[in-house]
Amino acid sequence: RLKVEHLTRAFGGSPVVNDVSLEVAPGQVTCLLGPSGCGKSTTLRMIAGVERPDSGRIAIDGRIVCEGSLFLPPEARSVGLMFQDFALFPHLTVAQNVAFGLRGPREEKMRRVDDLLERVNLSGYGPKHPHQLSGGEQQRVALARALAPRPRVMLMDEPFSGLDNRLRDGIRDTTLEILKEEGAAVLLVTHEPDEALRMGDEIALMRAGRIVQRGSPYNVYNAPVDRAAAAFFSDVN
Ligand code: ATP
Ligand code: MG
Repeated sequence: RLKVEHLTRAFGGSPVVNDVSLEVAPGQVTCLLGPSGCGKSTTLRMIAGVERPDSGRIAIDGRIVCEGSLFLPPEARSVGLMFQDFALFPHLTVAQNVAFGLRGPREEKMRRVDDLLERVNLSGYGPKHPHQLSGGEQQRVALARALAPRPRVMLMDEPFSGLDNRLRDGIRDTTLEILKEEGAAVLLVTHEPDEALRMGDEIALMRAGRIVQRGSPYNVYNAPVDRAAAAFFSDVN
């Protein structure tokens, strides 16, 4: 479970993330949705542990990972990361990429790698190198790699925006299915309303550093908090 309270961060005196609070239960997907520049990635980076907040608190499964002078690094937070430009290691095979964050006996690691590759429909791809794979295949390897160490929280920043439209729906569905099976709490950042409506159990609508509305996709779409929120959804068909 991810719990974020009163997270705040300013750059050069102006707040970019302003008193953001949210909570994601295991097996649930919350989509952090908002226009470009509203502070989504900065929020995610603070939760990941690659950016320090000015104030606020972050807890993962009840353990505080960030508060005041306490700031655990990403590898100590049990977070999985998936970014649009989060490239695979080009010199490693697919199997080695997926195994990268795994510790323990070799057989156990290989079993986990094989299991994940099968679930992203890439059985037999283990010995290949990333450059031999299509963009969509690489994205599925990245998902397997992020999930391999069984993170409690999965953080995804526009993970599908580099893919062409025809691939995207299929990969969204596969991704959602695996995320549900793995049971991590998922925070997915997107600026596309239709992606949030499709993937989110909950949507947190962000504007100018603040969360202005939280609710089910149905509620956020049908009962927008104000005119700007309604306009933001108006392009969805
Ligand atoms: P997009 O949808 O375009 O990815 P975003 O919602 O992810 O946008 P952020 O990347 O969080 O937005 O950036 C929010 C604001 O903070 C932007 O105005 C950005 O220029 C500013 N910003 C982010 N990081 C820094 C930094 N390290 N130094 C100064 N300003 C920053
Ligand atoms: Mg961003």
